[in-house]
Amino acid sequence: MPRFQFTIHATDGKARRGTIAMQRGEIRTPAFMPVGTAATVKAVKPQDVRASGADILLGNTYHLMLRPTAERIARLGGLHKFMGWDRPILTDSGGYQVMSLSELTKRSEEGVAFASHLDGSRHMMSPERSMEIQRLLGSDIVMAFDELVPTTSTREVQAKAMERSMRWAKRSRAGFDSGEEHAARAALFGIQQGALDEGLRKASADALKDIGFDGYAVGGLAVGEGQEAMFGVLDYAPGQLDETKPRYLMGVGKPDDIVGAVERGIDMFDCVLPTRSGRTGQAFTRNGPINIRNARFAEDQGPLDPACPCPVCSTWSRAYIHHLVRAGEILGAMLMTEHNLWFYQTLMADLRAAIEEQRLTAFASDFRAKYQAKQD
Ligand SMILES: [Zn+2]
Repeated sequence: MPRFQFTIHATDGKARRGTIAMQRGEIRTPAFMPVGTAATVKAVKPQDVRASGADILLGNTYHLMLRPTAERIARLGGLHKFMGWDRPILTDSGGYQVMSLSELTKRSEEGVAFASHLDGSRHMMSPERSMEIQRLLGSDIVMAFDELVPTTSTREVQAKAMERSMRWAKRSRAGFDSGEEHAARAALFGIQQGALDEGLRKASADALKDIGFDGYAVGGLAVGEGQEAMFGVLDYAPGQLDETKPRYLMGVGKPDDIVGAVERGIDMFDCVLPTRSGRTGQAFTRNGPINIRNARFAEDQGPLDPACPCPVCSTWSRAYIHHLVRAGEILGAMLMTEHNLWFYQTLMADLRAAIEEQRLTAFASDFRAKYQAKQD
């Protein structure tokens, strides 16, 4: 297998159906990456994550550097061995969590000093340190370290953060390349910033292209700006990036966000929604999300989603899962999460087939019509 090779097999409008070939396996795109924050996709064993159709997982640098620490994971043979997942793993840079979860943060050109949200211990995160941590974890797709500011900041603040992010992208590239053994088998993605401003987005895309990356993320979205504003940026931002490389929309999203983003040319996604929602009683179905705690499911003998091919839907009823979740049984969270992962992966498989068969527009409008006819 090559280090990193992206092949586009078919296009339909702006949407692309491709494959990323890496040493630990192939990733079919458009791809959804379940989030394994603390070296676990919560409540699901890795083999069950794989059975749902996932080709790649996401791991969180910030959480793992604090507990159990990247150095310990490296001593134990790396993240894949540690958690029992032998396929590709993408790790984020830690920047988003450092700037949103930690305390007493202090930003400078060097990086971000912060205190752990777990025990208050002091740490420094920089492009070089982020690359080192992702290398210690044994990540397959490493994300550049960037600076985030709210989409509601002034244009001047946005511009300064974008420009600093581009300087950090260059330092990330150098830091990644200095780990020669790891760089020979892993890939590095750059992250486009620029909030909701087309000119800043273009400048960011050009700066990243000059540095050169294996793939490009559209960053700084899905932070509360709303679907309309996000789609407004996605109408032009993917087209500013190198079309021969995969494009990754970080932290997205709801099923209808994903469908709309695929139509706009995005190839990769990650989101905590299927797993987090599963633990709070929300199940995704083709007819919209349902809250399984609702009393009307107490004696409903049907599956969570009649259209779902998953092992949960073929075995257990809404009534049973309603009971488990209401009773606070661990199995309730496990079954809900497994179903939701299957829902997302089945949606991705359907999107890939629709692109191959040049019927994405019809698929997307049919999906939206059913999905938005919500049951509750
Ligand atoms: Zn199911």
